[in-house]
Amino acid sequence: MVTNETYLKGVWNQTLELINESQVINSDYFSSFYTDSSLYSLTPEKATISVPRLFHKIILDRDLGIIRSCLSTIIKSTVTVEVLLESDLIQAEQFKLKTISSKYLKNTLKDNYLFSNFIVGKSNVQAHISSLSCATNPGELYNPLFIYGDSGLGKTHLLNAIGNSIKSIYPDKKVGLMSGLDFVQCVFAASKSGDLDQFKEELYELDLLLIDDIQFIAGKEKTHEIFFSVFNELVNNRKQVCITCDRLPSEIKGLEDRIISRFYSGLNVNIEAPEFDTAFQIIKSKIEQRTDLDNYITDDVISFLATNFSQNVRTLEGALTRLIFYGINFANSSTIDLKIASEAFKGQIAEKVNEITPKMIIRRVSDYYGLTPAQIISKTRTKNIAVPRHIAMYLTRKILDLPFSKIGAEFGNRDHSTIMNACERVEQQIKENSLFKKAVFDIEQSIKN
Ligand code: ADP
Ligand code: MG
Repeated sequence: MVTNETYLKGVWNQTLELINESQVINSDYFSSFYTDSSLYSLTPEKATISVPRLFHKIILDRDLGIIRSCLSTIIKSTVTVEVLLESDLIQAEQFKLKTISSKYLKNTLKDNYLFSNFIVGKSNVQAHISSLSCATNPGELYNPLFIYGDSGLGKTHLLNAIGNSIKSIYPDKKVGLMSGLDFVQCVFAASKSGDLDQFKEELYELDLLLIDDIQFIAGKEKTHEIFFSVFNELVNNRKQVCITCDRLPSEIKGLEDRIISRFYSGLNVNIEAPEFDTAFQIIKSKIEQRTDLDNYITDDVISFLATNFSQNVRTLEGALTRLIFYGINFANSSTIDLKIASEAFKGQIAEKVNEITPKMIIRRVSDYYGLTPAQIISKTRTKNIAVPRHIAMYLTRKILDLPFSKIGAEFGNRDHSTIMNACERVEQQIKENSLFKKAVFDIEQSIKN
């Protein structure tokens, strides 16, 4: 019987003969490095050759041209050739087995959601640290880990990062990721085909169960029952369970009390909308990941995005995409500056901005510092009044983009250079002093919301 294995062996033997006959390869090299190789797999597009040691790989990689041509002659079709180490292939094989390819659990981990590309700030530090702890000490510290927060704040990213990290630290552990919706659908399909037990068994086998958006199991009684037993089995055996949700367990309507109370038995952490600094760093890192955007977007444009679109990270990413789209297609410039950025988002933030007036800005700034609007406009030069005045001028310029002379008129008929100096000073302070920057950011938020 010709099995796949014997077929591959046959093809490879013939290929080796042909390579040897061609006399392109030195015969010592051939007997030292080629005879230990084997054809690991062959698809219509690609042949994978397995070799025992790195040295073999280096030699064969150098000779890929002749290997490819002889192999193509034997199989009468052209394929690409790659040479891999036996140990890597075995590991990849184990990965495939360990990261599940069973009937219900599919390997759905997203390999680009990692801890290394997750930006940490005040808004998500708790979720980050607890996720990291689960990845390094699965089943030991926080079980279950329950991460909750609004959409687009990084829950799915962290859940995948836990899975990916465990896979790389402990290649032998079995990892399963599914959404609440997948869970409901699997229970439905398994009940229909009468193999609920198999579904449960697959889950019992796991070392790490990651359930994204658990809220979707609400109101599904049969699912609750299965989930409850799987959850207990895993947690009781110190297998890690990590769950995300768009709200606190107690706020999920239609979820059994016994499940809710289990969710409170581990650690619950909230993930919030990124504050200015985190939003800024997230955009910066997204830009850095793309070599084509080197120096294309100025820092004040990043601030602009961080200020206006930080309600969640998905919106932030969307804004960056729009900006780049607009920049490439409609702005004839080698960099995107604030002017181009405000054009790119004209319709989108204009409505809110229109309601804001210089008087309103002066009022918000004076409220923040416990002053009156009259004090802000006055000629008093004491620092506790002059600084808020400069901030009000700066924010009027930044938010409303009015000419300096017009702003001067709003601030007790000051001339345009006074306003310009004030704006520069504030910009400088923002760069140098993070507390100051935070205060300005908070006031700006209070004006916009
Ligand atoms: P959620 O599951 O909370 O709805 P996601 O995890 O899907 O949110 O995040 C939305 C997008 O934002 C994803 O592309 C994710 O990579 C990105 N993202 C979220 N938080 C961060 C962060 N702190 N650093 C980098 N990217 C992030
Ligand atoms: Mg999600």
